[in-house]
Parts: sequence; structure tokens; C-alpha cells
Amino acid sequence: PTSGIGIADLPNQRHKIVAKRGTNFTLMVVGESGLGKTTFINTLFTTTIKEKKNQAKRHAKQTDKTVEIEITKAELEEKKFNVKLTVIDTPGFGDYVNNRDSWLPIVEFIDDQHESYMRQEQQPLRKEKLDLRVHACLYFIRPTGHTLKPLDIEIMKRLGSRVNLIPVIAKADTLTPADLEKFKRQVIAAQNIQVYQCPIESDDETSTKRNMNIMAAMPFAVIGSDQDVVTPDGRKVKGRQYSWGVAEVENEDHCDFKKLRSLVIRTHMLDLVSTTEEIHYENYRQSQMETRKF
Ligand code: GDP
Repeated sequence: PTSGIGIADLPNQRHKIVAKRGTNFTLMVVGESGLGKTTFINTLFTTTIKEKKNQAKRHAKQTDKTVEIEITKAELEEKKFNVKLTVIDTPGFGDYVNNRDSWLPIVEFIDDQHESYMRQEQQPLRKEKLDLRVHACLYFIRPTGHTLKPLDIEIMKRLGSRVNLIPVIAKADTLTPADLEKFKRQVIAAQNIQVYQCPIESDDETSTKRNMNIMAAMPFAVIGSDQDVVTPDGRKVKGRQYSWGVAEVENEDHCDFKKLRSLVIRTHMLDLVSTTEEIHYENYRQSQMETRKF
């Protein structure tokens, strides 16, 4: 069994507890507007879970005109496993070319969630905690086919040191396969960006191979579409229609959507959750302990 939420890899006891309780999962999408973030999220969760933008809840703290933080909640059931999903979108980000600080509210949001969780942990009464720590951050890169923008590099550096960063090349259908490969290499070559690494080795060979395939596809090239279209050979698929044919969302020869979906909501969701707790939250906590010593 290669699908499922990944709980099969856990020792039995933990498995039971987790399966009963379900889990909270917070996914953040970052990138210039118009890159297909909303479409992608809707494609990922198949059913449209997202309300129109102006109806969604806004993060109270935000005052910055350039970036809004938008929070959408939904419940997912993957193979009888309950997931309370929160999607954090950041519309408007990067729209103002001159605003070099447009990433600030995003980074602050991530830090704020760690801070808030830390404070709750320090309370003597252990009530159920409000927890919006971001477990995975999909960073959408404009498919220019040229070099990565310095701003993209700068933001990804800052994100990667705080959160499980997963770079994504948006609208993969707009690049030729050769240009896409070249562009991927450009992204990989960018220095000092810490990207999420999923565990590779597993007890069974199939999973190990699957994990290797997933990691080899990073940065994931994605195609999003909320429409079903008919391919020239008569299949009804999610995709984008062109005069030359159909760019299919779930065709691995066309893009990495399936691998990314597997990573995020099937095989490695729990790893994303536990590494957030054990690495990113812990880093934050330690850095705060140090700065607060006087
Ligand atoms: P957001 O501002 O990043 O949330 O972007 P939207 O999801 O609103 O999409 C912006 C536009 O890009 C819409 O017209 C979408 O139909 C289109 N779009 C979304 N995903 C893709 C894709 O994978 N390929 C192409 N060619 N267009 C896309």
C-alpha cells in the first residue's frame, strides 16, 4: 500500500492515538498573485473548499496593504483519517515590485504562530491549544524559464529556515519540457535555501522508491485546473485545454502534481507535522530563550 496518510509507518501505539484523534494540518501558499495558488488549492482538495476571496477570514493583525493573510478551514478525510485542514493564502504578495519587504508579513505570521504556541505551552492550565503553526509552505515561482528572481531567493531563504519549504513552479503547462528542466536546475542551484527533505528510507522497497521519486521532482512543476476537459483520445480529466491537446493535471508526464499531492496530503503529512514541531518550532523556541536571557 503506497497511499494512505503515512500512519502505517508509525509504531502501533502512536498509530492508534493519531488515527483516533486525527490531526491538524496547516498549509501555507506563498507567491505572486495570478500564479494559480487558489486554483491549485482547489485542485488539490478536489472539491472547492475555498470561498470567494473577500468572504474568507482575514488575519486580524494585518495592516499592510500589499499582503493579506487569508485563512480557510476545512475538514478532510483521507482513507478514514480525519484532517482538520487550514490553508493560509497570501494574496497580493509581490504585486508591488518596489516593495522589497513584502515578505515581512508572511515571515511574521509564521513566527507569530510559534510565539503564540510557546506562550500557551507556558501556561499552567493546559487547555486545548490554538495552533496555527505552518506545517508546509508551498512557494510558487513564476514560470519565466529564465533565472530565479533575487526576491524569490531572498524570501525562500527566510522561509526555509522557519518552515518546511516546498518550492513549486507554477503553471508548468506554459513552459516546454526542455525549458522546464532547465528552470528546475536553476532553482535547485540557488544557494543557501533550505528545502523540506522527506525521509527516503523505508521498510519496504516500494515506499523507498516512491520517496526517491518524490524528492527527485523538487521543485515541483504543477498545473492547476478546476475544470474537467476531454483529451483527444476521449478521457475526461482535470486539465487545461489547448489547440494542440490537453495539459493534464494528474499525468506524471505533464507535471508533478501527483507527487506533490502525495507528499503533502498522503505519504508525508505526518512527517511535515512532526518536523515542524521538532525542528522549526524547537529552533524558534531556542532562539527566543537565548534572546530573552539577560
Ligand atoms: P492566485 O492569484 O495565485 O490565487 O491565482 P488564481 O488561482 O486566481 O489563478 C490566476 C489565473 O491563472 C486564472 O485565470 C487561472 O485559471 C490561471 N491558472 C491557474 N493555474 C494555472 C495553470 O496551472 N496553468 C495555466 N496556464 N493557468 C493557470
